[in-house]
Amino acid sequence: MSLATSTILDRPVEPDTDAPAIAALRESVALQKAAFRRDPYPDAARRSAHIQALAGMLLGNRERIRAAVAEDFGSHPAAFTDLLEILGPAGRAATALEFLEEWMSDSERPANRDLYGSARATMRYEPKGVVGNMAPWNFPFEIGCGPLVEMLAAGNRVIVKPSDLTPACGELLAELISATFDRDHVTVAVGGLDLAREFSRQPWDHLMYTGSPGVGRQIMRAAADHLVPVTLELGGKCPAVLTPSGVTPEAVESIIGTKLIKNGQMCITVDHVLVPRQRMTEFADLARSLVRSSMPDHSRSQDCVGMITGAHLERIEALLDEARRSGAEIVELEQDGAIDRRTRRMPLSLVLDPDPGLRICREEIFGPVLPVIPYDVLEDAVAGIDADDRPLAVYVFGDDPAQCEAVLRAVRSGGACVNACALQGALPSLGFGGSGTSGMGRHHGIDGFREFSNARGVVIRGGDDNIDILYPPYGEKVRAIVDQAFQA
Ligand code: NAD
Repeated sequence: MSLATSTILDRPVEPDTDAPAIAALRESVALQKAAFRRDPYPDAARRSAHIQALAGMLLGNRERIRAAVAEDFGSHPAAFTDLLEILGPAGRAATALEFLEEWMSDSERPANRDLYGSARATMRYEPKGVVGNMAPWNFPFEIGCGPLVEMLAAGNRVIVKPSDLTPACGELLAELISATFDRDHVTVAVGGLDLAREFSRQPWDHLMYTGSPGVGRQIMRAAADHLVPVTLELGGKCPAVLTPSGVTPEAVESIIGTKLIKNGQMCITVDHVLVPRQRMTEFADLARSLVRSSMPDHSRSQDCVGMITGAHLERIEALLDEARRSGAEIVELEQDGAIDRRTRRMPLSLVLDPDPGLRICREEIFGPVLPVIPYDVLEDAVAGIDADDRPLAVYVFGDDPAQCEAVLRAVRSGGACVNACALQGALPSLGFGGSGTSGMGRHHGIDGFREFSNARGVVIRGGDDNIDILYPPYGEKVRAIVDQAFQA
């Protein structure tokens, strides 16, 4: 399966089950479009108030958000809900509030005085209008509300569509948003896949979709009917590349720790690891001793996140079973790890030197299985990444900065870290997004503000210019100026 067409799990769309939700969505879009026409340019003070209201909504509902996330995932650490789902978007809000006036200010551009005289050329960042945000199940509030910060900073009206796989979070978000914002400003559309498809067909002024590359293609096709600009935040197989000096306890802690965030259900998790062949066993030993010394009962603890549905759990089991049947060595990192079907928690396993034809080597894994792929020549291993679909992120480990930089230059990806994993997605100040099959467009910080703004180039004519040389008839004056330009 090509990554460009892949989904984590294909799900049938049942038509006509969402008729009331679809009618409500169309009405909300019409209401917001009309409100935008009436009031298209909220000033900085109003935008700040909107962002503060959103942050207050999240910070003030900690217990309910914790409970909804735990209900949808079967098991979810409360501290991690606080950290990512609440403090994450609240941190983005704080960044937006700090820099909003700077982001909103016109950007002056140079204009050649000989031709334009005293004219002023500026880029203005104006609201786009009515924006749709289709969120995935894995970070219901972080992705439901994080981009909303920058959409509001840019002065837009927004409709958020949570994933149908997180019903408790979706219902809570809808309730909280409707208590915080007017429906013609920000609202939430809750429903099944039929609603999701209808959402992608609306005449948005901008549409953001976060999810699999396979559905991303369908979203872009649907958006094309109205020429809607899209931000696509997709997935892929993010590798960690251990250069010869990179097999260290710190690197292993970073890779295993990141893989255990959401138990692998994170777009920028480490999908697989590339390791020098003679260091593969050392890597596995370091991973096993890390888990056994610092989190021996991880999969039975409250820190372990459940797979989002039973079907997602079965998919991960099937991937691991196929690898086992192929004869690949499976390293179970926990001593007595076992699957808990009630909470859908599953322990992390390494698969050493898997056959490239296995599903774990072809599909985005999105769960607690980590293929460890040995290489003989670093340049060849890295060239293999570049030849495949571009990942959302690449992580490089080693103590030789020139070698790490060479790996970064040899591959293309949406983001990257050196001697760390996933930090590029955590910083509210750093533009975040994919490349090629892992997506297009950026959110977070000023990059998100600009993504959701209409960048309008404006020239205000002054005096003392020679603009008239552009108009016919092209006589002596234009010839003299053009000849002079050629000689310069
Ligand atoms: P998902 O099934 O929740 O789908 C995402 C959104 O698309 C949801 O709102 C869902 O209702 C909607 N949807 C699903 N099928 C649809 C269809 N046929 N037509 C229209 N809409 C549809 O989530 P998922 O796709 O399983 O999410 C996992 C994927 O998302 C992984 O590939 C992961 O890497 C990627 N992801 C990317 C990012 C990022 O920032 N780049 C973040 C999180 C997840």
